[in-house]
Amino acid sequence: MTVSLIDPFQRAITYLRVSVTDRCDFRCVYCMSENMTFLPKKELLTLEELDRMCSAFIGMGVEKLRITGGEPLVRRGIMNFFKSMTRHLESGALKELTLTTNGSQLEKYAADLYAAGVRRVNISLDTLDEQKFADITRWGRLPQVLRGIDAAQSAGLRVKINTVALKGFNEDELFRLTEWCAERDMDITWIEVMPMGDLGNENRLDQYWSLKDLRATLAEQYTVIDSTERSGGPARYVRLEETGQKIGFITPLTHNFCESCNRVRLTCTGELYMCLGQEDMADLRGALRDEKSDETMLEGAIRDAIRLKPKGHDFDYSRQEVSGQMSRHMSHTGG
Ligand code: SAM
Ligand code: SF4
Repeated sequence: MTVSLIDPFQRAITYLRVSVTDRCDFRCVYCMSENMTFLPKKELLTLEELDRMCSAFIGMGVEKLRITGGEPLVRRGIMNFFKSMTRHLESGALKELTLTTNGSQLEKYAADLYAAGVRRVNISLDTLDEQKFADITRWGRLPQVLRGIDAAQSAGLRVKINTVALKGFNEDELFRLTEWCAERDMDITWIEVMPMGDLGNENRLDQYWSLKDLRATLAEQYTVIDSTERSGGPARYVRLEETGQKIGFITPLTHNFCESCNRVRLTCTGELYMCLGQEDMADLRGALRDEKSDETMLEGAIRDAIRLKPKGHDFDYSRQEVSGQMSRHMSHTGG
């Protein structure tokens, strides 16, 4: 039996997030600039290479695969990749196959995703106001995403909403979003805006809405009960007594969650990032494309990479300046 992946700090790596494309049909202001230059297609791992890579990780103990991007569902042929991962769910090696999506293509793909074995999906949505939605995503249209959410639920997928907390943007929708999710039996996770990508004209500090403040506002109308549930990632959870709803808080900037980190991220070009907040990465594409490449070589390259996993990250807003600023875009590493 293959030995599982253990990093230098004795953390078992059981969760792989895979960005399958850097492209997207939206241009969310906190994620991309309006005129993004995307990678030439030949730089991307092919669907076959993605399969080989994911299968290698699964062979080494990865039990959870999250497909992300860019927008994963705009990658041509991506449903074939989902279908090819079904075999690992059927063998029991893979416990969960899931994705994070902006929801724009779900009307088309929800039933196929369910058929491939996906049971849960994270859908990003920052506002229920059509105009605000168009403003924040630049190219997105709310009704299309709402139809995608309907399709996902009708197909039997459990939906979690991911919402970026943005001061002066969706502060006034805290209760509306909470109620809307409760009515539809969806959990919601709030994400603090992160200093990713270029800041351009927009200053992330102006947009920064602390989740501590958000939680305090929530407690004005609900009984907020702490939950001990952890995901091995940056999310913490509470339950609202009145609705039974689970609310997540992703606070990478204010909490240190690194000690229990169980995950690594693969970019669409085959770079493995050991930590969202550090530049350390290993290029696995070479091991994949080398003409002598076989599964042993790939496995060796993955093990070497995991040895580089750092203890933690350096994001810090506490001194009212953005330090630990990363030049990478979220769409590159996958959110
Ligand atoms: N396109 C898909 C989507 O939007 O769900 C998947 C990729 S997207 C990069 C993944 C998540 O990252 C989304 O929930 C998005 O809101 C979040 N995100 C992007 N840029 C962010 C930033 N600067 N700070 C915090 N979250 C961000
Ligand atoms: Fe696209 Fe997701 Fe980034 Fe928005 S957050 S631009 S939907 S990748």
